Amino acid sequence: MTKVNIVIIDDHQLFREGVKRILDFEPTFEVVAEGDDGDEAARIVEHYHPDVVIMDINMPNVNGVEATKQLVDLYPESKVIILSIHDDENYVTHALKTGARGYLLKEMDADTLIEAVKVVAEGGSYLHPKVTHNLVNEFRRLATSGVSSHAQHEVYPEIRRPLHILTRRECEVLQMLADGKSNRGIGESLFISEKTVKNHVSNILQKMNVNDRTQAVVVAIKNGWVEMR
Ligand SMILES: [Mg+2]
Repeated sequence: MTKVNIVIIDDHQLFREGVKRILDFEPTFEVVAEGDDGDEAARIVEHYHPDVVIMDINMPNVNGVEATKQLVDLYPESKVIILSIHDDENYVTHALKTGARGYLLKEMDADTLIEAVKVVAEGGSYLHPKVTHNLVNEFRRLATSGVSSHAQHEVYPEIRRPLHILTRRECEVLQMLADGKSNRGIGESLFISEKTVKNHVSNILQKMNVNDRTQAVVVAIKNGWVEMR
C-alpha cells in the first residue's frame, strides 16, 4: 500500500497539531511537513513533493489562495485542499478557481477530513457537505431568477428517483448528499452506521459512474433525481 504524503499549512499551531493527530490515525497517511504561511508552503512543497497539501486560507504574508495559485502551476502533482471558515459560495468559487481540489470548513469532523484527503489523493475532488448544499442552493437561485413559474417547471422536471440504477435506500442517501449531510448525519437520519453509509455512497458512485460525491450531486440535480430543498 503506497502512503499518501501530506503537508499541513496553517498559521495556528494548535489547529495544525489537531489535523496532524487525526491524519496520523490513518495507517496509509503520512504527514511529512508543516508550515505556517504561503511562502513556507512553496518551500515545503518544492522540497517534499507531497501528494496532498492542506492549506489554510487566512495566513500572514502570502495567504492560502495566493499560495495555491503558485503551487498548482509549479507542482500540479501536489493536490491542494483549502481549509476555510467561510461556507458562502463566493469564497468557495474564488478558492476553487485557483485549481484547488478540495474545500473544507474548519468546523468539519475527523471523518470528513480523512475522507477528503482520500478522495483528493485518488484524483477526485471534495467539498465539505455544507458547501455542496450552498452550491446547490446557488444553482437553484440562478436557475429560477427571473423566470416565470411556468418556466420554473421546465427547469425543474418532476423528481424521478433513479430506481433503474439505485436501490430505494441509495436514492435516500443520494438525496441526503444533495441536502449537504455528512456521513454521520446521514447515518443518524436513517438509523444506520457510518460504515453502512460509506458503503451506500461508494455503491452510488460506482453505479452512477462518477468519482466523488460532488459529481454525484451535480449529475443527480441535472437529471432531476433529487429535490433541491
Ligand atoms: Mg489562519
